[in-house]
Amino acid sequence: MQNTKPGLTLLSEALDIAFSEVPVHRDVEDRFLTDCYGAVLRQDVTARVSVPSVDNSAMDGYALRFADLAAINGPVDVVGTSLAGHPYEGILPDRCAIRIATGAAIPDGADCVIIQENVSANAAETCIEISSDVIARTVLHQNIRWAGEDISQGDIVLKAGAILRPQDVAIAAGQGYGSLKVSRPLRVAVFSTGDELAKPGDPLPPGGIYDSNRFAMIGMLRETGCVVTDLGLLADDFDVLRNALQDAANSHDVVMTSGGVSVGKADLLKPVVDQLGEITAWKLAIKPGKPLMRGKIGDCLVIGLPGNPVSVLVSGLLYVMPLLRHVMGADKSQTVPVRMPVRAGFEFSRGTGRREWLRARLIQNDDGEFEAEAFASTSSGMLSSMVWAEGLVEIPEDCGKVSKGDVVLYLPLRGLQ
Ligand code: AMP
Ligand code: MG
Repeated sequence: MQNTKPGLTLLSEALDIAFSEVPVHRDVEDRFLTDCYGAVLRQDVTARVSVPSVDNSAMDGYALRFADLAAINGPVDVVGTSLAGHPYEGILPDRCAIRIATGAAIPDGADCVIIQENVSANAAETCIEISSDVIARTVLHQNIRWAGEDISQGDIVLKAGAILRPQDVAIAAGQGYGSLKVSRPLRVAVFSTGDELAKPGDPLPPGGIYDSNRFAMIGMLRETGCVVTDLGLLADDFDVLRNALQDAANSHDVVMTSGGVSVGKADLLKPVVDQLGEITAWKLAIKPGKPLMRGKIGDCLVIGLPGNPVSVLVSGLLYVMPLLRHVMGADKSQTVPVRMPVRAGFEFSRGTGRREWLRARLIQNDDGEFEAEAFASTSSGMLSSMVWAEGLVEIPEDCGKVSKGDVVLYLPLRGLQ
């Protein structure tokens, strides 16, 4: 049983609940391969052809019959060539060789390839000499790549739910697919809330701060393959927020906001969403990012992130991006961040009850081993800590102390995006 503060939900539980409550959207579109990077695949991709399609040579050299080699004592006639796309037609005659290029079909009758560097050919390349040493070292099937060794026709080469990487798009291309069925991108409306906020580019009023969260949210959403509508800044005013949320919800799949989800006087997002729709989840047992709202207005998913810039990024990476990928049909395994065990190069203690992420990066210690270094402050207001960080160290709910040398889980930030 994990030691969680009452009234708070574990991140893993919150994600499981969100995955089961928020349905995968149905809209699927056919997209040309070059527009598929980062998209969620919504079909299985079945191999139409075997790769390689025929047995072929892994090297430039000479194709021979292995059984002939023992009897060779003198020059061997080169009776033809097999080039990629131009196979040797016919059967390899006894005790002869075929000049062969990398990727070219192995001629019928040949069953090994000796690389060109290991033989000496005459100027016209009509015959070759093979030393007894080279013959002794040659084995049956040497340098042959078998038909279907990479992919067999009928294999499923990509499964629905994959987030497409360059190699995934490439394998589909290699199977002759010109387009793939992928998820329609989610339409997400984004705004920041707070009377203190000013738009970057505008003069800063006394006591004001520039809105940075919107730019973190938009970046993460684009990274997730969403189409973003930037709705700018909204004041801490019930009617302003209600009208803007209702409008945005009418024409988007998701509305995502920052600020105003705490319990202060100016924190109005919760009552507004309560009035327009329903709130399904609030506070999570995480740090940073505890006040995190999930709700619904009609069919539109509403996600209210806290105002602190680090909370926006951490809860965005660990909760929002996985959830939105799920909505676009990504397999769960594709949405869970990579966690790897490393030794802590720092000391840390705290009160238990929440899962916490420290801003971290890996450094090599004097023994050449990588260990995690943690940012000096755990404040969720310090955006500079996320710029410094290359990863996060995850502290489980019941862990109150980390000593130098303890094994901790490290989440590379690149793997999270
Ligand atoms: P809130 O969740 O609205 O109480 O905001 C928490 C803290 O985050 C406050 O110090 C805000 O000034 C700051 N904050 C809120 N929204 C933003 C934003 N869009 N960009 C930068 N900081 C913000
Ligand atoms: Mg606020």
